[in-house]
Amino acid sequence: MGKTATKSIQRKVLDNIQRVRGRIAQACRRAHRDVASVRLVAVTKSVDIELIRILVEAGLVDLGESRVQQLAQRAAMIAETQKRQRILDGQRDVVAPVWHMIGHLQRNKVRSAVQWATVFHSVDSLRLAEEISSEAGRRDQVADVLLQVNVAGEKSKHGIAVGAIEVFCEQIRTLAGMRLVGLMGMMPLVDDAEEVRPLFRRLREIAEDLVTQECISSEACELSMGMSNDFEIAIEEGATIVRVGTALFEGLPVAKTC
Ligand SMILES: *Cc1c(COP(=O)(O)O)cnc(C)c1O
Repeated sequence: MGKTATKSIQRKVLDNIQRVRGRIAQACRRAHRDVASVRLVAVTKSVDIELIRILVEAGLVDLGESRVQQLAQRAAMIAETQKRQRILDGQRDVVAPVWHMIGHLQRNKVRSAVQWATVFHSVDSLRLAEEISSEAGRRDQVADVLLQVNVAGEKSKHGIAVGAIEVFCEQIRTLAGMRLVGLMGMMPLVDDAEEVRPLFRRLREIAEDLVTQECISSEACELSMGMSNDFEIAIEEGATIVRVGTALFEGLPVAKTC
């Protein structure tokens, strides 16, 4: 990328971040919520490393990827850059990103995922939870885990069936190397985002029930729900983490790798 192109791309990214943050703030205001209660995860799966660097420089340090290999590659590249910045340029204020694994995770990829990611949004089987637990334990780490709930009951979707969540929580309670921090939902694609509002609400109620039953502690009850087309509604219904890609990268080049 040329210098001028980089500058204009940088400006565009900063504009987009500001616009998304503004929309988050407005949704919080409507819902009488503190804006600090919503964490923006930038989903970077469709853009190149240069754009990710701009996000990190801009202070957006929660980054989400849906494929392990891509997450690992990118996390390694950013880590390398930051190491150089710290050592060669003597920058003390370099903040390392937190990588979120948001996509379906296969058990044979857990090792690599645990090496780079700290938050796992899509845990939906006991064997996967066990694998994360043992891998994180082996590395002396603690993985933050959210359970993906198939709240719409779609046959084609990953996620734990609503009726099976409570037992699942019981089963993973004793696993070392991980903390259950909340629930994650992927909503069906609809034309009007209002159609999924009841599903966001339902996911929040499920989480509240789990807190009541002491399956999840109330301080650690995250709700990862809402993407570019519906994050405002998700926030109005209680989302604490929104996973936003498209809205942050409007008007910007998509990745060569995709
Ligand atoms: C791609 C993706 C997102 C972001 O979607 P956008 O519509 O681009 O905001 C969020 N969550 C998951 C699990 C994804 O795969």
